[in-house]
Amino acid sequence: MMQTQILALYAIPLAAVLAVYLRLRRRRETHAAHVWREARDAGLTEPVSLHPVVDPTICMGSGACTRACPEGALGIVNGKAHLVNPTVCIGHGACAATCPVEAITLVFGTERRGVDIPYVKPNFETNVNGIFIAGELGGMGLIRKAAEQGRQAIETISRQRAPDGWLDVVIVGAGPAGISATLGAMEAGLRFMTIEQEESLGGTVYHYPRNKIVMTQPVHLPLAGKVKMGEISKEALLEFWSGIVGRHRVPIRYGERLEAIVSDGTGYRVRTTRGEHRTRNILLAIGRRGTPRQLGVPGEDLPKVVYRLVDPEQYRGRHVLVVGGGDSAIEAAVSLAAEPGTPVTLSYRGEAFGRVKVKNRDRLAEAQGAGRLEVLLSSAVRVIEPERVILDTAAGPAERPNDAVIVCAGGILPTPMLKEIGIRVETKHGTA
Ligand SMILES: Cc1cc2nc3c(=O)[nH]c(=O)nc-3n(C[C@H](O)[C@H](O)[C@H](O)COP(=O)(O)OP(=O)(O)OC[C@H]3O[C@@H](n4cnc5c(N)ncnc54)[C@H](O)[C@@H]3O)c2cc1C
Ligand code: SF4
Repeated sequence: MMQTQILALYAIPLAAVLAVYLRLRRRRETHAAHVWREARDAGLTEPVSLHPVVDPTICMGSGACTRACPEGALGIVNGKAHLVNPTVCIGHGACAATCPVEAITLVFGTERRGVDIPYVKPNFETNVNGIFIAGELGGMGLIRKAAEQGRQAIETISRQRAPDGWLDVVIVGAGPAGISATLGAMEAGLRFMTIEQEESLGGTVYHYPRNKIVMTQPVHLPLAGKVKMGEISKEALLEFWSGIVGRHRVPIRYGERLEAIVSDGTGYRVRTTRGEHRTRNILLAIGRRGTPRQLGVPGEDLPKVVYRLVDPEQYRGRHVLVVGGGDSAIEAAVSLAAEPGTPVTLSYRGEAFGRVKVKNRDRLAEAQGAGRLEVLLSSAVRVIEPERVILDTAAGPAERPNDAVIVCAGGILPTPMLKEIGIRVETKHGTA
């Protein structure tokens, strides 16, 4: 009798705990399977770059990786970890680090989608003397790693000073790697120039969704010292960087794009959209988003044409044309259409929207159904004029009044330019 009572005393709470655990686990598995189905249906199954591959023969489904992943990219499906939302993986490897049985390997690219990774030595110099690469272009994502690499690359460069009249280094890009490198160049007293194709600081971080929580480990920034942030909003991080840049009067040449690099024996001539600079070294801190793809149509150089949407509110009450067929084009069009009195046309050359998130497809259909948004499939911009645009559509030319054009047609990666200057580039298909 006594034994039965003792058993009940322990067994009942244990069974209750187990039941709750199993229910939660089932709920999480159902959710993960749903996320995976959505990603598959939308054709979003290829990770951008570095990502985890789980060995199912080792994985015991502990879920440690899914909890460690801040992007919600992993889930447990059929008792094993699975990359259920591949395109949101940013490759920082928190999953691999927490796996208790080492079932996760981080690799670049997949069988179907190769990822070009340039060869970089441990000191961040490429196989081409005097050309360095730091940050995500070299393959490793993460703000801290990019900033560390930028700083370390400058340490090496500062040992290779240039002859009089030359720059020691041209730093290309003002994302985390370029900012840190620029601060390092100032601290080391180098003759340098930093160019950035956009009008803003922060690189990829600048383009995160509004209020995104950024997770970053402590980093040593030249002139600023050790910076501990942990979790911080995108806006606060950008403000922090702008503060340093402002306080130290860091010279960054915004709106200047690197177009070509020509070797002249001892150093390089760097051709940009604003001129030519002679330098001993070049640090490419240009990330992997590339240069925005242009339409190549008359009128594209008008100031009303931009390649990203920053603040939908600024377009309120204006006629806007969005061009593109991916998630960023749809997100831009839908958020603009939500601004009162803002007629929006979305033009896409395809017959249907292919690889887009289900959520975006639904929001687009809703805005279209409510008459807030016009969608022109199988269409292409013919000409952009100051007050109107003309598009070619299946039904013939279509004219729309227009105050702004937002082109979301993706980016062109710099791989051809890297190869042209002799940098070795390896296309990885699922290898480390
Ligand atoms: C949605 C998302 C969320 C993320 N969240 C996190 C996170 O929470 N924590 C974290 O640590 N990391 C995160 N990352 C990864 C992190 O943002 C990147 O690893 C980091 O920004 C890379 O820095 P970078 O300086 O190498 O490149 P980038 O930040 O991409 O900066 C490159 C800069 O170079 C400029 N450039 C490019 N080409 C040229 C040219 N030809 N001429 C002149 N300028 C040029 C670009 O305009 C850009 O400003 C996230 C990434 C994404 C996409
Ligand atoms: S690499 Fe980072 S974002 Fe990708 S699955 Fe692992 S923890 Fe998540």
